[in-house]
Amino acid sequence: MAVDKNTKFDGALLRRLHSLHLQVNDLESQLARGPRQIKAGEAIVDQCKTQVQKARDDVKSATMICDEKQLQLKSREDHIEDLKAKLNTASSNKEFNLLKEQIAADQQANSVQSDEIFEGLERIDVLNEAVTEAEKELEEKIKEQQERTEQVESRLKVVQNDLDHVRDELVASEKQIPASVKAEYTRLTASRRDEALAPIEDDSCGGCNQILTTQMIDRIRLGFLIECPACAAWLYQK
Ligand SMILES: [Zn+2]
Repeated sequence: MAVDKNTKFDGALLRRLHSLHLQVNDLESQLARGPRQIKAGEAIVDQCKTQVQKARDDVKSATMICDEKQLQLKSREDHIEDLKAKLNTASSNKEFNLLKEQIAADQQANSVQSDEIFEGLERIDVLNEAVTEAEKELEEKIKEQQERTEQVESRLKVVQNDLDHVRDELVASEKQIPASVKAEYTRLTASRRDEALAPIEDDSCGGCNQILTTQMIDRIRLGFLIECPACAAWLYQK
């Protein structure tokens, strides 16, 4: 036992100290949660930004492919014009027919190419709509994040205020701790926080469920400071 077993300690003070430690803990975890919520919201916004970028890239590459096909179409059209001009100067039937065949092949190729370009342009329209959608989504998420941040920040102010208040109360209550155990109390609560103290629950330690002897419970009732034999928490009556 780290403390003198004849030390008297007001049960109501222990109860109060424990309640204040629990409140400090709760408020501190609320404070820690705030920045995490803001960060999670930022991740959503970043995800939307990536989506917008991807949608824009899709338009860009579809446009490049389409432009390239249009260039090919144009150069094949020029080629057809050249071949047509040569028809008039063909020196033989064989050459004439060969030119005709080449023209027909080029025209066939360009017909397919035109269809592909048309499909490509339609696809670009669809991809542009996707960009608009993604930008709209991003705008919404940015707005949501601004609102979330404002809410969290204003709530954190309240929590911080409450925490300051509870800490002040704790400091005031700690002044009533018997001098003989003050150092031990400080050491215990520094390392174990609210778990340094525990109420008796159904004749057991409320911290670790260790069953307490009748003798221990009687001593606590008489106002003596008793540690849990298992977890060493300072026990008090609820
Ligand atoms: Zn215990």
